[in-house]
Amino acid sequence: MAYIASCLCGAVSLTIEGEVRHVMHCHCSMCRKAHGSAFASYGLVEKDKVRVEGEEYIQSFQSSKNTVRTFCRLCGSNIEWKDKSEFNEKYRSFSLGLLDSEFTPSSEEHIFESSTPNWCPTSKNK
Ligand SMILES: [Zn+2]
Ligand SMILES: [Zn+2]
Repeated sequence: MAYIASCLCGAVSLTIEGEVRHVMHCHCSMCRKAHGSAFASYGLVEKDKVRVEGEEYIQSFQSSKNTVRTFCRLCGSNIEWKDKSEFNEKYRSFSLGLLDSEFTPSSEEHIFESSTPNWCPTSKNK
């Protein structure tokens, strides 16, 4: 089974021919700003199982020394989060909000929850 994911304008699409192994909800302030939302959700897939269309519309932004974020330069949708770790040589982390296919995670976690702002409905800092 394949999962289809695409940006808001449709110029960039991902076809994932494999399992979405893990879901990460990141509450760090950089993901919050990059996504313009309370937190960012990413799906982890094996690198060689992803086919990207519209590569020419993908823009990169280096948000810190070891981190690059990509987005569609036409509509601004966040596409991927990449770092320079060994881990990222095997996997890709794409924005789960791009999914067009139905998907129920089998494994998920929340990270950097201490950075969650009070206006986020899941904030435990209130
Ligand atoms: Zn787009
Ligand atoms: Zn983050």
